[in-house]
Amino acid sequence: MIEDNVVYGGPCVEVPVYSSFATYVIEKLKENPDRTILINADTGHAMTSKAILQEIVNVAVGLKQMGVEKGDIVAISSENRNEFITAVIAAISCGATVTSINVLSTKEEIIHMLSISQPKVVFCSEAVLKRQLDTIKSIPEVKKIIQLNGELIHDDVILYKDVMIHTNVTEYTAEEVEGLTDVALIMNSSGTTGLPKGVMLTHMNILYGLKMFNNGRSCESYSTVLTVAPWYHVYGFLTTIEFIASNVLIVYLSGFNTEKYLSTIEEHRVDVLIAVPPIIVFLGKSPLVHEHDLSSVKMVWCAAAPLSAETTKLAMKSLPNCKGILQGYGMTETTLTVIKDLDSSNCSQKTGGCGYPLPGIRVKVVDVESRIKLGINQNGEICLKGPSNMKGYLGNEAATREAIDDEGYVKTGDIGYYDEDGYFFIVDRLKEIIKYKGHQVAPAIVENVILQHNAVAECGVVGTPDEVAGELPTAFVTLKTNAQVTKTELLEFTDQRLSPISRLRGGIIFIDKIPRNGSGKILRRELKLMLRKL
Ligand code: AMP
Repeated sequence: MIEDNVVYGGPCVEVPVYSSFATYVIEKLKENPDRTILINADTGHAMTSKAILQEIVNVAVGLKQMGVEKGDIVAISSENRNEFITAVIAAISCGATVTSINVLSTKEEIIHMLSISQPKVVFCSEAVLKRQLDTIKSIPEVKKIIQLNGELIHDDVILYKDVMIHTNVTEYTAEEVEGLTDVALIMNSSGTTGLPKGVMLTHMNILYGLKMFNNGRSCESYSTVLTVAPWYHVYGFLTTIEFIASNVLIVYLSGFNTEKYLSTIEEHRVDVLIAVPPIIVFLGKSPLVHEHDLSSVKMVWCAAAPLSAETTKLAMKSLPNCKGILQGYGMTETTLTVIKDLDSSNCSQKTGGCGYPLPGIRVKVVDVESRIKLGINQNGEICLKGPSNMKGYLGNEAATREAIDDEGYVKTGDIGYYDEDGYFFIVDRLKEIIKYKGHQVAPAIVENVILQHNAVAECGVVGTPDEVAGELPTAFVTLKTNAQVTKTELLEFTDQRLSPISRLRGGIIFIDKIPRNGSGKILRRELKLMLRKL
């Protein structure tokens, strides 16, 4: 429905029944207790609804005993594993707020994020602890570190299984919360500018987000979903939770390995893939695809970064029974996807577009300068409003005010338009963040690292378009007078200090001066234009 240059997805048909995200998950898990709903395809670790629920309750009671209370912050840093799900839901059911940290984060990134959220308890996988125990111990607020798997690596750490206190599930109820205001998750996002911030998502944001995400799913009754999207990101985590709550079997991998990915589809007869664009490129282009039977795949959902129509067409050729590769669009600040292709019987998708606003969502496209709402087929900044819009950035009112306009719309920093049907197309990104394989890379973080080199006077980082990764972080660098450093030396320096996703895979370009506006802000548009001319 288009009215006064606002595209409205229609009323949000149902209001969530629960006000607590944890209670919702717990009640859903009770519906089909004996069904296996979670399989780690890397390890074979499978769990039924009943087993997941029992573990959540045992951990929640253990955490409570340990002193975790309503309002406390609990952090988690782990690759995808079953304990990730049970630990997060257990902490939230104690009334705590959970924040997740990318497993690939550097020491500086962890310190930055944990000093914003100040967690009392931190859950870590064995692999993360082996790299980052000292960093986590250095955060003064952290009182307990819990190791999710493996043999205990240090006496200062508690094993996950030792936290659990066996409790009868029927005797357990999650802590009551104020769904509209209490925060369940703090996810990291740089938004449109600057360093990563803590996006506060209330219980209701999440429950509405899930409700809207699920709305109108009528194409197939899915049975088995494969996901490799990391759970420290809201897209990976909440889509997994929603499929679990819908009683669909989730098969997951903790990382993308081509051979393992294809054999997992084959072995489990997967019918839905939760993907990001690099996976669609792989499905379209890799000869390996033809060595596997992918006939079980009926549907693919792709989100997190732009996906071209050509890539979609190529990948469809590799999936003989797939009805559509459909897109979802949203951002951490809107909890989940808020614009989505229709999952109807013909699974229609307009070439190159990402869908219609979901019920409950209003979308406007505004002129970047005048902020005036634009009509059909006019490019401008996409702005989103709905019940899943974040509460704000933790401890950063200025950034919150900057992110949400006077009418309550979240500014996306993406450029796009809608057609006469109210269907959306994303054509460009105005904001700073670079998307490498769907992961956010904040130029500010990369620039801070480059500036640590003695020879560097100033620098600006932008993304070079890349077919597989989406964008590759690329640095324009100006050296100090008479200073000398080669590109190779500078790359070595930055590689040692940046997380694997932030590395300068697009290379380094030396220039005489970084273009800036009158107030000193880097003109990234100009850097991008310079990239095109190279
Ligand atoms: P994140 O907060 O990490 O989910 O990043 C959100 C950003 O990812 C959006 O503002 C877009 O720039 C980009 N994005 C997500 N989904 C899509 C999509 N379907 N098409 C184009 N860009 C997307």
